[in-house]
Amino acid sequence: MSHVTDLVCTTCAKPVVAGALTCQDDGGTLDVRYDYETVGRVMSPDTLSADRNPTMWRYRALLPIEDDAHLPPLTVGGTPLYAAPRLAIDSGVGAMWIKDETRQPTGSLKDRASALAVVKAREAGAKVVTTASTGNAAAALAGISASVGQENVIFVPDAAPEAKIAQLLAYGSRLVLVRGNYAAAFDLCSAAVARYGWYDRNTGINPYMTEGKKTVALEILEQLEWSAPDVILVSVGDGSIIGGVHKGVKDALALGWIERMPRLIGVQAEGSDYMAQAYESGENVTSKPPIEASTIADSISADLPRDRVKALAAVTETGGAYLRVTDEEILAAIPLLARGSGVFAEPAGAAAYAGLLAAKRLGHIGGDDEAVVIATGSGLKDVASARRATAAETPIHVAPDIDELARALEP
Ligand SMILES: *Cc1c(COP(=O)(O)O)cnc(C)c1O
Repeated sequence: MSHVTDLVCTTCAKPVVAGALTCQDDGGTLDVRYDYETVGRVMSPDTLSADRNPTMWRYRALLPIEDDAHLPPLTVGGTPLYAAPRLAIDSGVGAMWIKDETRQPTGSLKDRASALAVVKAREAGAKVVTTASTGNAAAALAGISASVGQENVIFVPDAAPEAKIAQLLAYGSRLVLVRGNYAAAFDLCSAAVARYGWYDRNTGINPYMTEGKKTVALEILEQLEWSAPDVILVSVGDGSIIGGVHKGVKDALALGWIERMPRLIGVQAEGSDYMAQAYESGENVTSKPPIEASTIADSISADLPRDRVKALAAVTETGGAYLRVTDEEILAAIPLLARGSGVFAEPAGAAAYAGLLAAKRLGHIGGDDEAVVIATGSGLKDVASARRATAAETPIHVAPDIDELARALEP
């Protein structure tokens, strides 16, 4: 039995009928609520330190799962948190850590959400599970589905990076390449859900995705021995990850596992800055119209962030901020992060480090602050961008001849 008490609409605050994924009145995204008293009795920092299960399922008392029957075999979660002292000096902060989500089974943080989606789909006895995605949520759903033999249909923009498409095909998904952007893929996927009754994993629709993603925050806090950092930096497209991080720290605070709330800083690409606009102008995100997003960081390109209500609360309720970085800053951050820490991230993953540099410059982060940067996805997902970012580098190109090598090394 899960310790979920109810699902509550994030826009009208009404409880929702059992089984619905979104609010029956206004279609709002739901928040999953728990009985913290019971959770606190079965799980604590002490029980966790004795728990040998390193995966995200170590937090299952705080997850909406009925039992362990449907947990997929792939190892999701348990990713390293690396101290990055050289990058802390370079960026002028007191301390810095990198949460390395490039190590997830399909190469991005999305595995945390898709793993839970597959569990919920199987609990519901769904024949087919589906999602639209810019690529990583799809790859995650495809990979986790493959691990348990779950049929799935994936909708991605036909301009998605080649590596992501290759991954989907390798995992054996029914792949729909949509002529159009993520918004178009999302709408087509929603129409297919309405027609065929497939289990809907879509971000901003499926409330459990926040719950899966929150495990990244629980891990960060546990790895820091339940001493919250000053800030956590997250790159933001749909806003589901930052909403999940917020949920994780709220859970930990409510359970008394941490003493204070870290500030959450949402990092957006300049060309995909819906949340930064809304944060600055105070516009209501339930009525603010879509923008036309365009950025090299495909994983954070979103005309209309699907989890915008939770994404805004994540920043406003923690005293954080939204900020923008340019595509040039994002590209530059790929080798900076790789060289300073050994973590090779895709553009959307490196964007959070570009955001740390910008946040320091803008005064959102002080010189003594302890900062966690979440590297959300692997650099191998988008090799073309990594090549662009390193285009000025000139490798030594020689015949297999030691004298030619010597001439090149000692010109
Ligand atoms: C999805 C994704 C993001 C952004 O997450 P949202 O929930 O869409 O804000 C950032 N980085 C990577 C690598 C992603 O796949």
